[in-house]
Amino acid sequence: GRDWERQVRSSARPRARNLTVLVTGAAGFVGAHACLALRRRGDGVLGLDSFAPSYYDPSLKRSRQALLLRHGVFVVDGDLNNPQLLAKVFDVAPAFTHVLHLAAQPGVRHALRRDPSPYVSSNVAALVSLLERIKNADPMPALVWASSSSVYGLNSPVGPSSESDRTDRPASLYAATKKAGEEITHAYNHIYGVSVTALRLFSVYGPWGRPDMAYYSFTRDILRGRPVKVYEGSVRDFTYVNDIVRGCLAALDTAKGSTGSGGRKRGNAEMRTYNLGSATPVPVAELVDVLERVLGVKAVRKVVPMPRNGDVLFTHANITLARRDLGYEPATDLKTGLKRFVRWYRSYYTIKKNS
Ligand code: NAD
Repeated sequence: GRDWERQVRSSARPRARNLTVLVTGAAGFVGAHACLALRRRGDGVLGLDSFAPSYYDPSLKRSRQALLLRHGVFVVDGDLNNPQLLAKVFDVAPAFTHVLHLAAQPGVRHALRRDPSPYVSSNVAALVSLLERIKNADPMPALVWASSSSVYGLNSPVGPSSESDRTDRPASLYAATKKAGEEITHAYNHIYGVSVTALRLFSVYGPWGRPDMAYYSFTRDILRGRPVKVYEGSVRDFTYVNDIVRGCLAALDTAKGSTGSGGRKRGNAEMRTYNLGSATPVPVAELVDVLERVLGVKAVRKVVPMPRNGDVLFTHANITLARRDLGYEPATDLKTGLKRFVRWYRSYYTIKKNS
């Protein structure tokens, strides 16, 4: 109704700067941080999220939404696969200059336990639905979206992965859908001149994080005296969420506008791909060491061989390109970042228990 339209307009209106950004997956981990950072610098920000209930505590998404609202960011409750809703959002809001697309079904292990269809609907169909809306807008907003380090798949060397490395051997359905996303956006770039930047994120961690990720579930398990399952030899390029968000903002700031539907010339809109990681791979066993120190509690470790369930053993980002083009420089080491996470974790669950 009226109130919804008022909130959409007001949230998307820039204050001090002139970006007007639609952030999809805004109630998600990275999305919520990105919305706050954009709002802080005065950009117009409208969030959108389906609050997909399927795989982690939906109350965490609602808490992030409430936090965003307190900072003046409205999150539309809706699915990207609903074209009428998307059309309405694009109609009512001031013209978006950028779309930061972070909505997805993440996580590599989910498909094996439950239902594989969210990977297809959230990572493939939803992206096509969004691209259809973008290409019909005039002017077309530039698209910046989250791909994943998992596209390196079985080609992942022991050593840093570069953007030009092969991505033809995904090890999970998740990775396959992210790879599909890179190819789908390429087609829209080629046909309609949509400006596209893909950011291949490497294991993001921090406050308001995802409970399915290792650092989060390890914290829970260590505090409860339960054994933590450590995959033998597993190494991750853990990256603090604020560093990732700075990379996202730099990608938005440097994105060259799309051709605009008036002059649909092919091949002249940009198509960029960047790794965003910390470039400091850490054995998961060492992650547990750092958590023990930060929590002041010894972990009960259960070391098991890495199952063939879609995860690769090793991730390590080469960030030369992002450094050069985006001025991207990761600044937070693992201990500092985990301290911030643990501080948030303790206060979040204390407040939850007492409310
Ligand atoms: P998240 O699950 O916390 O956030 C994703 C959000 O998207 C969720 O709130 C979900 O409700 C929403 N969503 C899903 N399907 C939707 C749909 N059809 N319409 C509207 N909203 C929908 O995950 P995250 O960790 O914040 O990840 C953000 C992005 O970064 C994702 O694209 C993910 O694949 C990518 N990524 C994350 C990591 C990481 O370590 N966190 C690593 C690599 C890539």
